[in-house]
Amino acid sequence: MILKKAKGNSGIIRKEEGTKTGSLQRHLKQLIAVIIVGMLTIFWLGTGRNFEPYPKAETGIMDLTQLEFENDVVSLDGQWEFFWNRLLNPGELKTDIVIEYVDIPSSWNKYVSNKSTYYGDGYATYRLIFITEEEQRLALKIPRLRTAYKLWVNGELIASAGTVGKAREAMKPQYLPQISFFEAQQGENEILIQVSNFYHRSGGILESLKLGSEDQIFELKLKSMAMEFILFGSLMCIGTYHLTLFFFRRKKDSSPMYFGLFCILIGIRIMLSGECFLFYLFPEFSWEIAHKILTLTYYLGVPIALMFFIAIFPEYFNIRMIKAAQMMGGVFVLIVLFTPAKIFTVTNIVYQIWSFGVIFYIISVFIKIFIHREKDSLLIGLGATALLMSSINDIIFFTPWMHDNELVFLRALVRTGNITPLGLFIFACTNSLLIAKRFSDALEQEELMTAKLTEMNAHLDELVFQRTKDLEESNQKIEYQNIELERKNQVLQRFSFKDPLTGVWNRRKYAQMIKSEWRRCLREQKPIALLLLDIDHFKRFNDFYGHMEGDKCLIKVGHALKKSLSRSTDILARYGGEEFIVLLAGAGKEESIKTANMLRQKIEDLAILHEKSPVSDYVTVSIGCTSMIPNLNSSYQDLFNMADKALYQAKNAGRNQVRFL
Ligand code: GH3
Ligand code: MG
Ligand code: MG
Repeated sequence: MILKKAKGNSGIIRKEEGTKTGSLQRHLKQLIAVIIVGMLTIFWLGTGRNFEPYPKAETGIMDLTQLEFENDVVSLDGQWEFFWNRLLNPGELKTDIVIEYVDIPSSWNKYVSNKSTYYGDGYATYRLIFITEEEQRLALKIPRLRTAYKLWVNGELIASAGTVGKAREAMKPQYLPQISFFEAQQGENEILIQVSNFYHRSGGILESLKLGSEDQIFELKLKSMAMEFILFGSLMCIGTYHLTLFFFRRKKDSSPMYFGLFCILIGIRIMLSGECFLFYLFPEFSWEIAHKILTLTYYLGVPIALMFFIAIFPEYFNIRMIKAAQMMGGVFVLIVLFTPAKIFTVTNIVYQIWSFGVIFYIISVFIKIFIHREKDSLLIGLGATALLMSSINDIIFFTPWMHDNELVFLRALVRTGNITPLGLFIFACTNSLLIAKRFSDALEQEELMTAKLTEMNAHLDELVFQRTKDLEESNQKIEYQNIELERKNQVLQRFSFKDPLTGVWNRRKYAQMIKSEWRRCLREQKPIALLLLDIDHFKRFNDFYGHMEGDKCLIKVGHALKKSLSRSTDILARYGGEEFIVLLAGAGKEESIKTANMLRQKIEDLAILHEKSPVSDYVTVSIGCTSMIPNLNSSYQDLFNMADKALYQAKNAGRNQVRFL
């Protein structure tokens, strides 16, 4: 039977599991779809829109004769001539100098590590010859180079940033992405770049230079500037809006605060990276401080993002993880604050690895949230996917591995850096939506509650009236029950003083009464009489007629005695067995003897047959009788003893008689 039941149960569980796995699969599909859409978006945005093969520089020469500059912008990637530890000016190149080649973009660390320090300190000259078909006006889009440069085209200095120098003291670093215009000649054109770095971990040209027509390059620059302005403005607005929101609802929910802070951090980051538009506004802004701020936004961003997610889905995240993120963030923030860029750009790699860990942790938690079909998980999942993918993209892009090693696969996948702001923008939009939705939900709930309360208020009078009525009714009921209880109590008490067989008072009642009557007679100095009655040879009666008949006899005797005592003050009680006691307050000797004789006669007159009695044919009683006026030297116990003695004498004298003492 039990086995059968268990089998049935497991069947049900299996069925439930089946539907659970079904919804799980559906959910996983949704999740995968979101990830794919996110990835495609990011890579579409990130990798640029052109996939056609572009010419590459080989042994310092790039043939651009096939290119139509009206339509194409070309990245000047490939092998450039490289002169380590030389700052060559145009025309200074002599044939006796050994030419080395390096792949651009990449840091020079790996080429010079044998010759110089691990930090990428040093200076060098880069040179590229490109060949065009005709004379035309062209433009160069120059990224930030590490960390100061001078750039000539065909001998003409057209761009520079900071001060190039052969030692740390002699140079001044600056990030200044810019565009420059020049007249290209038909045939060979020479680009010569002096770069020096004594400030950053990586030196050299780490991002692509772009060449195109004036319009194309100008448009490219304008577009990316416009994009950055939009992102910066939007993020700052969204950030301050959420901080204000948090300020006014402080105790309720901390998610708007973390979110607001995160948006502002990334806003600041945009100012300092990409086109670095802050340096257009403040050209003298310290490179070191700017780099510190830039790094701080990253180090603070990781724990703040994590804390935001925890505020939204508190039951899914591990508190130890958030503590670890806060600690790591704190330690690295301190490193940035107290060491120069040269050092903290080296330790940066540790934090990058750590942030990868955090990102994978967040992804794993989000998968859990998705599987549990948590409310709003689709919305936040979309935003988080965009943010995470773009962050991964950027970390990979900016990591020295990208440049120090020839990881073709990575470079094919990640071609554009600095798309975190875009990912964040998508994230900000979805989260603004989420927070707005939660707020409006809360508001709706509040409105609903208010309506309910108003309705309840309207019915309150009626409710109070009804409740009062109910209360009165139950009060009345209780009162009635109390009276009933009292009555029952009285009956019970009476019963406890009554002899159950004969219905006359019992010995307890006698004990109570003798006390009060004795005191009363003492006070009033009136006589009090006591009669002790005992049925003669009752044992024989019982033995002969049986116990039942004995009981009947006792009942008859009790009734007869009760009936014969007419005064209200006379008290009759069954003292025990076949003995009765009569208390006559106010009765003197004569009166008590008279009453005793009357009672004895009454019993004899009952004519209850008693064959075995040697005294009479019928049941008879012997009575001991006494009376006294109470005084302070005597007690009612004396009265009883006297009556008992008298009864003893009556028995001895032959029974069926009265004796007074
Ligand atoms: P005496 O004349 O000396 O009083 O003789 P007696 O037999 O009446 O006296 P004894 O005290 O020897 O016996 C009393 C008997 O009363 C004993 C008992 O069987 C009987 N008896 C006591 N209480 C009850 C009762 O409640 N019901 C019945 N049926 N008999 C009782
Ligand atoms: Mg007796
Ligand atoms: Mg007796």
